[in-house]
Amino acid sequence: MSTVRTRFAPSPTGYLHIGGLRTALFSWLFARHNDGIFVLRIEDTDRSRLIEDALGDIIESLRWAGMDWDEGPDTGGPYGPYLQSERRALYSEYTDLLLEEGHAYRCFCSQERLRSMKEKNPGQGYDRRCRNLTAEEIQRHETCGDPFVVRLKIKEGETTEFTDEIRGIIKTNNELIDDFVLMKSDGFPTYHLANVVDDHLMKISHVIRGDEWISSTPKHVLLYETFGWSKPVFAHVPVILREGGGKLSKRHGATTVREFKKRGYLPDALVNFIALLGWSLDDKTEVFSVGELISSFDLARVNRAACVFSYEKLDWFNGMYIRMKDKEELYDLFLPYLVDAGLVPEDSCLHRDYLLRIIPLVRERVKHLSEVCDQVAFFFDEGYVTPGLEFLVQKKLTAADSARILELCSASLQDIERFEVEEIENALRGLVGTTGYKTGQVFMTIRVAVTGRPVSPGLFETMQVLGKKRVQKRLRTSLSVLKKGEQGDNV
Ligand code: GLU
Repeated sequence: MSTVRTRFAPSPTGYLHIGGLRTALFSWLFARHNDGIFVLRIEDTDRSRLIEDALGDIIESLRWAGMDWDEGPDTGGPYGPYLQSERRALYSEYTDLLLEEGHAYRCFCSQERLRSMKEKNPGQGYDRRCRNLTAEEIQRHETCGDPFVVRLKIKEGETTEFTDEIRGIIKTNNELIDDFVLMKSDGFPTYHLANVVDDHLMKISHVIRGDEWISSTPKHVLLYETFGWSKPVFAHVPVILREGGGKLSKRHGATTVREFKKRGYLPDALVNFIALLGWSLDDKTEVFSVGELISSFDLARVNRAACVFSYEKLDWFNGMYIRMKDKEELYDLFLPYLVDAGLVPEDSCLHRDYLLRIIPLVRERVKHLSEVCDQVAFFFDEGYVTPGLEFLVQKKLTAADSARILELCSASLQDIERFEVEEIENALRGLVGTTGYKTGQVFMTIRVAVTGRPVSPGLFETMQVLGKKRVQKRLRTSLSVLKKGEQGDNV
């Protein structure tokens, strides 16, 4: 059996979109599953739409997601170069061949003429005026140096047909196919020509790409047939919609891979989630490692129907993958966010041990890495917010009651020698008995005083990590808030 060769062929006209990553993933998984070759080819022939740092972003994003390629612009390979802008001579050669053999023709129609034609007959396509120019007419244009494009002569009265691995047989009446442009007047090929020439020369066996390209495929098939080349297998993967319909858009959440990364999604969680956008093993298994994806991925189980991108589901995956990491791994992952938020200094080795003790307490609550900052802030003096009376004074208690609770708490903690969960718990539970207040009232008052907030990880574990000194200091701070409150009450 011949080698499977797939490719991902992005245009560097923007940062890598999550849909692009899904297409790349399916191509990559298919190649890896079949011990094949995965090629990265950059389609940069639309010069007006290029974005300077898009290529770097595409490469970085694919690598971050854990994909690798056997041939590509940075790795080289036997069929390079892998940047289309460096392959222009090849496209000219093949265009000339088509011109010589009478399969293509030069079109000298001006932009104005094409525009007005479109206005008069929207959706009609090019009227083929230049298809039958006489030798003299062509000569005249050439002498004047008129700019031209090269168009393919579509065979009339025929039907173009191909089999899509996912959608089945697709037939298109050639009447509906325009004499499309192969070579633009700026000397750059169009997507159609460059894509077909390269897929052929790079021996691509399976073209796996987004559904939005399916209307281009009949044109590509015509080109393969005109050149007399064998066609690759085509597989158009279903479009990704947002919940409620429509395209994913910035308004609804992250759309580019770099944004997902920045918001604190883990690559393995994102990859697991997007693998299920249009593919499934058995309609029930959801959690796949990359190795499991490679061994089970199959085009036969890719759906035709559009798939829905649920940010909620992605968060579920991400939380799960975060919980699967050990605390050292999480430390490395969390650190950049904590440094960015100014909670720990860049050179944070001093805080390492402290953070390693905090992480097990907060990991359950973090769905995106970036959320860690909010979860751990109060463990640092800089992030502790002195609570106001509205939080400190629990329902059915007065400021004086709350102050009494904190005073008793402070006194009973003072006697503890080993400031650890068990001792702290014993002391505080003993306290509840002596005060006559309800457990919830007592613990909530202490929690708010010590953490500055009503929601926190386990109170005793949190206090142990904070340490006696810090806990006592916060009890004192909160007490003074309550004392001021009491005075206020008395006025
Ligand atoms: N350059 C096209 C894109 O940006 C490639 C489409 C294809 O894979 O044929 O998606």
